[in-house]
Amino acid sequence: MAIKVTKASNLKPHPADDKLGFGKIFTDHMFNMDYAEGKGWFDPRIEPYAALSCDPAMLVFHYGQAIFEGLKAYRTPKGNVQLFRPQANFARFNRSASMLCIPNFDEAEALDHLRQLISVEKDWVPSSPGTSLYIRPTIIATDNYLGVAASQTYRFFTILSPVGAYYAEGFAPIKILVTTEHVRASRQGIGEAKTAANYAASLLAGHKAAKAGYTQVLWLDAVERKYVEEVGSMNIFFVIDGEVVTPELNGSILPGITRDSVLTMARHWGLPVSERHISIEEIFEANENGKLEECFGTGTAAVISPVGELRYDERVITIRNNEVGPLSQKLYDAITGIQFGEKEDPFGWIVPV
Ligand code: PMP
Repeated sequence: MAIKVTKASNLKPHPADDKLGFGKIFTDHMFNMDYAEGKGWFDPRIEPYAALSCDPAMLVFHYGQAIFEGLKAYRTPKGNVQLFRPQANFARFNRSASMLCIPNFDEAEALDHLRQLISVEKDWVPSSPGTSLYIRPTIIATDNYLGVAASQTYRFFTILSPVGAYYAEGFAPIKILVTTEHVRASRQGIGEAKTAANYAASLLAGHKAAKAGYTQVLWLDAVERKYVEEVGSMNIFFVIDGEVVTPELNGSILPGITRDSVLTMARHWGLPVSERHISIEEIFEANENGKLEECFGTGTAAVISPVGELRYDERVITIRNNEVGPLSQKLYDAITGIQFGEKEDPFGWIVPV
């Protein structure tokens, strides 16, 4: 159903594709929708991109009742624009909402609204290799109230940001620091929700890792401090003795859509795959025995991020001599090929705009 569209009167200049970076530039329009107790979600609309005017008592600022999503729109060689598994993002968004006491929304309508927003902003989808339009749906609690309680009103907004090629300088392995000092999330907490608090909890460890010369942190489980969970804001995979292994979804790990795509593809290719507990000791031992063949992170931003070095306290290992492994490369080519419409889509993951 077509929603109300108010067009911006002054359009912004579009930067060159090689000047995009990540998340710094925003398009001319945004999506807004409101929620009130007793009324439900109402007034979906596309409006000029604008600052929010908020009361300082607004609940989201104090107690972090906020959730978000991250997905992309891609330009195909024919010039069309398409989305990759957006239904999975909206399903995860609603699961995050439930965990944060935020009312659910209609996922099919949300996808329809997103397609309308991107249709309005089609010219903002860049076309140089590896570039895309990053999509950030967000829901915030908007009651002006300092009591610790779930809000009775919310704003759902979506902003769009053209982003550069993640691997502008080539597909290169990164260095990872296993943090023994910090915990990202715990089971039965909100680790599997895409909510602001989890990112706040990750900042200090990330800052320390960067100071020590590492790109990302590898998170261990909160209780035993033994099992691998995620890497930075990505899921993590290993290839051990021919088997593709990733931590099982245990409540503290974000169920990544790229993670699910990698699992689906690996199974489709007939590779042995396992979702299970993986201790950090097992990784170091596998490396010692020559069985650690590959390690990579997965996420919307980079798709596949090969890991070349792991530091765990005083122990440091170099994986695959810092070279990109064959499975990392094959997955990267297969997934980006589908996303950018250069390859067939055997899994039905693409939604045209
Ligand atoms: N873990 C965390 C903590 C993340 O923020 C992300 C990025 N959304 C991921 C994993 C990867 O998820 P996806 O593949 O859906 O981008």
